[in-house]
This record gives sequence, C-alpha cells and structure tokens, in this order.
Amino acid sequence: TDKNVIMDETAIRRALSRIAHEILEKNKGIENCLLVGIRTRGVYLAQRIAERIKEIEGVDIPYGELDITHYRDDREGGGDREAMDRTVVNSNLTLPAGSTGIKDKKVILFDDVLYTGRTIRAAMDALMDCGRPRMIQLAVLADRGHRELPIRPDYIGKNVPTSRHEQIEVALTEFDGKDEVYIISN
Ligand code: 5GP
Ligand code: MG
Repeated sequence: TDKNVIMDETAIRRALSRIAHEILEKNKGIENCLLVGIRTRGVYLAQRIAERIKEIEGVDIPYGELDITHYRDDREGGGDREAMDRTVVNSNLTLPAGSTGIKDKKVILFDDVLYTGRTIRAAMDALMDCGRPRMIQLAVLADRGHRELPIRPDYIGKNVPTSRHEQIEVALTEFDGKDEVYIISN
C-alpha cells in the first residue's frame, strides 16, 4: 500500500477559510443560511465553517447534522450519535436547539469526500422529507470524481483525481486526532 499526503493541517485550514469566504460571497452574507453536515466528518466541517464565519462576520450561523445511513441505496453502515443540545427534526436530521426547521432556508450540505454522488442524492431526499428548503448548496473537502449522478459541488476544498482502486483517507482532529488528507492505493 502507498500512502500520499495531499492536504496537511495548513492546507485544510486554508481550504476551509477560503470556503467560508466563498459561502459569504455567494450568499451575500449568511441570512437564512443553515449548515448541515453529513455524519460523521461532514459535521465537523460544518462546525469549523460556522466558527470561521463567526470570526469573519461576527455572526452565528446555525449548523445541524444529517444521518443518511437509512437512505443509501447501496451501502450499509451506522454508528453512535453523540448527545447534543439539539432539536431532533426526525430520525435523520438534528438542528440547533430552538431551530424552526429547514423550510425556506438556504441549506449548505457538507461532506468530507464526494465520489459517485449517491450519498448527496440520499441527503437531498432526507432533507426534502423535512420541509422545502429555498435552496441546497454542497461543500466537500475533497472531490475524487467518478460521478454516477448529475451532482456537482458549489464549494471544493481540493479536486483529487483518483482511480476507482484508490481511497481517500480524511483525518480530522475532532474525530481522528489530527488533520490530514491522504490517498491510499493498493
Ligand atoms: P458517494 O456516495 O458520492 O459515492 O460517496 C461519498 C460518501 O462516501 C461520503 O459520505 C464519503 O464519506 C464516503 N466516501 C466515498 N469515497 C470515499 C473515499 O475515497 N474516502 C473517504 N474517506 N470517504 C469516501
Ligand atoms: Mg461519509
């Protein structure tokens, strides 16, 4: 196995700072915006972007988490959900305490890696079941290509052309003890 680091801690920090600025620019601020991270690592990305936006604009932007394990058409998975002071919209979506839901919100979805697009399609299905957002945008830390659905991200940390045999590993400090993205090829 070969392991190649493609983003170190500094590169990840800079990419997330850029994405925070891009979100502010594209949406002309953050009014009516809601960040939604896809479990697990997408939630930490959403949380970090919320922190950056707070630093840049001095405003709080709400973020929630989405678990689409049950919506995927081709994959099994699961895990434990951390306890949070949050509003459980349904079994898939958890929003900040006191949140009024996603109706008419500009929802910005976060995931660590974008590949075929099936997870994002499932995430959009799960969101639509919770109400009608005004708009959905997509942010990913790494886009590895090989889309099987007409889905493209609005915000990309890094484009990483991969072969189907390669895997991207995303390590985030909150969950993995360090910040690093690398490619593994067998
Ligand atoms: P997709 O549904 O687009 O095929 O795959 C994206 C989902 O699977 C994301 O939630 C992502 O976490 C995971 N995923 C797919 N490929 C990779 C990969 O190479 N590395 C990592 N870390 N996750 C991946
Ligand atoms: Mg994932």
